[in-house]
Amino acid sequence: MSVIKRFDPELFNIIQREIQREISTLELIASENFASYAVLEAAGGVMTNKYAEGYPGKRYYGGCEHVDEAENLARVRLRKLFNAGYANVQPHSGSQANMAALMTFINIGDTVMGLDLAHGGHLTHGSPVNFSGQFYNFVSYHVAKSTGRVDFDEFHKLAVQHKPKLIICGGSAYPRFIEFEQFREIANKIGAFLMADIAHPSGLIAAGLHPSPIPFCDVITSTTHKTLRGPRGGIIMTSEDRENPWGKTAPKSGRVKMMSELIDSAVMPGMQGGPLMHIIAAKAVAFGEALKPEFKI
Ligand SMILES: *Cc1c(COP(=O)(O)O)cnc(C)c1O
Repeated sequence: MSVIKRFDPELFNIIQREIQREISTLELIASENFASYAVLEAAGGVMTNKYAEGYPGKRYYGGCEHVDEAENLARVRLRKLFNAGYANVQPHSGSQANMAALMTFINIGDTVMGLDLAHGGHLTHGSPVNFSGQFYNFVSYHVAKSTGRVDFDEFHKLAVQHKPKLIICGGSAYPRFIEFEQFREIANKIGAFLMADIAHPSGLIAAGLHPSPIPFCDVITSTTHKTLRGPRGGIIMTSEDRENPWGKTAPKSGRVKMMSELIDSAVMPGMQGGPLMHIIAAKAVAFGEALKPEFKI
C-alpha cells in the first residue's frame, strides 16, 4: 500500500476511503464477504504478471513452472474440500463458470430448466437479458408461495412436458438448502443432466453444514468470493471423471475424451483466454483456509 501512496496518492486516497467504508459500515449483502489478508496478498501479487493459457504441464507459454504449482495446489485443495473427482479453477467469475458448464453439456438452442430470477434464481439461469436466456431455450420453474422453496409438483410437470437436456438447481436467494436429491430423481426420470450452482452456499457445503451436491449432480459450479471467502472468481467441479457421454474423441488418437477434458476446453479456449494466475493463487490460499477447522466455526 505504501508504494501506491508514494506513486499514486490519488488512487491511494480512494482505497483509503473504501477501507474506511468497509470498517465503519455493517455489511448485510449476502453475496459479499471479507477475504483474509493472505487471500488479498496473493490476489495482489506478482502472478498477475504471468500469461499461462492452457493448463498445468500443457501451457502455451514458457516460464509457467511456478504458476503450474499454484494451480495444481488450488485444484488439489478444491477437490479435497468438496470431495470432488475433478476441479477447474480458471473461470474468472461465477457467470463464466456457468457459461463453460452449459457450453460443455448442451448446444445452442437446447432446452434447459432453471429457477426464475424473480424467485431466487440467477441471471445465468435463463434471464432474457443474459447470454443464457439468449442462447438457450430456458424454461423457468418457481418457488411455492407457502414455503418459499421449489414447487416440485410444478417442476415435475414442466420437466416431463419440456424434457430439458439439462436442469440447473440452486440460486442467489434460496432458503434452507438446495434439494439436490429431489432434483436428481426428476432429472433421472427424463434423462436430463443435473447442474448445481452452489455460488451462495459453497462455504456452508465446504464446512459440512449444507448437503453436498457431489453424489447427485453431473456438474457443479460456484463463485469463490461469497461464503467460501476467497478472491472474486469461479470454479467448476464434478464428482468423478468419466468418459464423455457423447463419445467425443481426441483428434489424433481417436480416444474417447474424458468429461474433464471437455470442461477444461470449454473454459479455455472455449470462452476465456489467459487465466488470472494471481487470483488462482489466492483461490489456493482460500481453499487452504476453508480446509482448516476454524473455517467451520
Ligand atoms: C453470484 C452468483 C453467480 C455469478 O457470480 P459472478 O461472479 O457475479 O459472475 C452465479 N450463480 C449464482 C447462483 C450466484 O449467486
